[in-house]
Amino acid sequence: MIKQRTCVACRTKNTKDNLLRIVADENGNAVLDETQKMNTRAIYICNNKNCINRLLKAKDITKCVKIKVKQGSIQELLRNLGE
Ligand SMILES: [Zn+2]
Repeated sequence: MIKQRTCVACRTKNTKDNLLRIVADENGNAVLDETQKMNTRAIYICNNKNCINRLLKAKDITKCVKIKVKQGSIQELLRNLGE
């Protein structure tokens, strides 16, 4: 069975290849884990602008993003991805 992950924005389950994996780097900045292999807590989001913007606009973004990242760094990453 293929492992499925839940998008933090729309709560839809999807396979990893259709999702972006976001982790916190050693400095506490939110980064895109392009290899999908970094051995750390991660969140997943659909690879589309709808979900990226949806999460960006969420008031409770810190509740959705259950990884330890610096204030603002997740928004910065999402803004870059949404462009
Ligand atoms: Zn989604």
